[in-house]
Amino acid sequence: METKNRIITRTVRIGKNLLMGGGNPIVVQTMCNTHTSDVEATVAQIRELSEAGAELVRITVPGLQDVPKVKEIMDILRSEGNFVPVVADIHFSADTAIAVAPLVEKVRINPGNFHKNYETARELFVKFIAVCKQHDTAIRIGVNYGSLGAQITEKFGNTPLGMAMAALDWIKMCEQEDFHNYVVSLKASNTVTMSRAYSSLVNLLKESDMEIPPMHVGVTEAGGGDTGRIKSCVGIATVLSEGIGDTIRVSLTEPPVNEIPVARYLAHAEKGDPMLDAAITWGPKLLKGEIDRIPEDAGVSQYLDDEIMQAARRRFYKPDYIACPGCGRTMYNLQETFEQVKARTSHLKDIVIAVMGCIVNGPGEMADADWGYVGEGGGKVSIYKKGQPILRHVPDYEAIDKLLELITQHTEEDL
Ligand code: SF4
Repeated sequence: METKNRIITRTVRIGKNLLMGGGNPIVVQTMCNTHTSDVEATVAQIRELSEAGAELVRITVPGLQDVPKVKEIMDILRSEGNFVPVVADIHFSADTAIAVAPLVEKVRINPGNFHKNYETARELFVKFIAVCKQHDTAIRIGVNYGSLGAQITEKFGNTPLGMAMAALDWIKMCEQEDFHNYVVSLKASNTVTMSRAYSSLVNLLKESDMEIPPMHVGVTEAGGGDTGRIKSCVGIATVLSEGIGDTIRVSLTEPPVNEIPVARYLAHAEKGDPMLDAAITWGPKLLKGEIDRIPEDAGVSQYLDDEIMQAARRRFYKPDYIACPGCGRTMYNLQETFEQVKARTSHLKDIVIAVMGCIVNGPGEMADADWGYVGEGGGKVSIYKKGQPILRHVPDYEAIDKLLELITQHTEEDL
């Protein structure tokens, strides 16, 4: 991978020993897919992930009722000498973010989701920052494509620049509050969108003469198997090749331990895996417009050529799948369902199909999908078309049939 000199970001300390940014080695991280309320399973998975090389592990904290469970998890881990920093993943609830901040080393939030009213969200963010300051807790400002909020989309649209402007807003607030212990991510499942968003933010910060915070880089909802690995490598390697990136997560719809070797490969530039090497070599050149196709004499098989071209959004030879990795909010067998959806739709062309683990974040984060299969919990599924629910509360045993029926019906109507 051709890499520009790494952009030197501010150093942030996560917990006692982990330094991120400032030219420190790229930190590999992942996320549990256990229910945080299941303390035993979550502790076991954190152990497994840290032993496999995760330097930071995230767990979901859906609400205030889960906060005492986080304390139990932390107490067990620390009592057995496992000091891997833990990140609490919060969506929407500022109260939960504030309650959990004293217990963990880092909290991931999207402050824009704290409240529909932008001013109220800002007030809640200031309160949250004050707690993090008091307890020396780091935060990640996690901006995701598809959940930017009207304040941003009305001015900049759902665009890479919109993502960068959203992050810049919260960065400025942190600086105003004299809080510097933060990391930023700008994730999308579309490799073009996510790579441009990171470059835009770095340019905006440079133009404003501001210090650059550590950047957490990832392609969200990349799916699984070869496709998920290739898509992640294409997107992440492109951002790294611009000198941007202090920590990475490869999101796969697979057991999270499978993410770590791919993330380590990207972080440490090991060589030797032909598939990952091809994605890392050619993906950035395609995404940055330096080439239009992989050279014929590059020794890349037709299969890899097809996969890399699709991951770089240059040529589509099969449906584009968006699938979240699943987390403690997932209430059904996401991996198995995703495999079934792929098996039954692989013949379709020019279509984007999303399979998402939960109704809380799924709809926002599959913004580009033509069709969405979204788990509601309780054995029920919602089916979305172009971001709108068109069928709710479908029993899961018939949801894939319904999805296919609807795709066929709407395709015929569109003809
Ligand atoms: S969309 Fe998937 S990964 Fe994101 S919160 Fe929901 S279940 Fe978890």
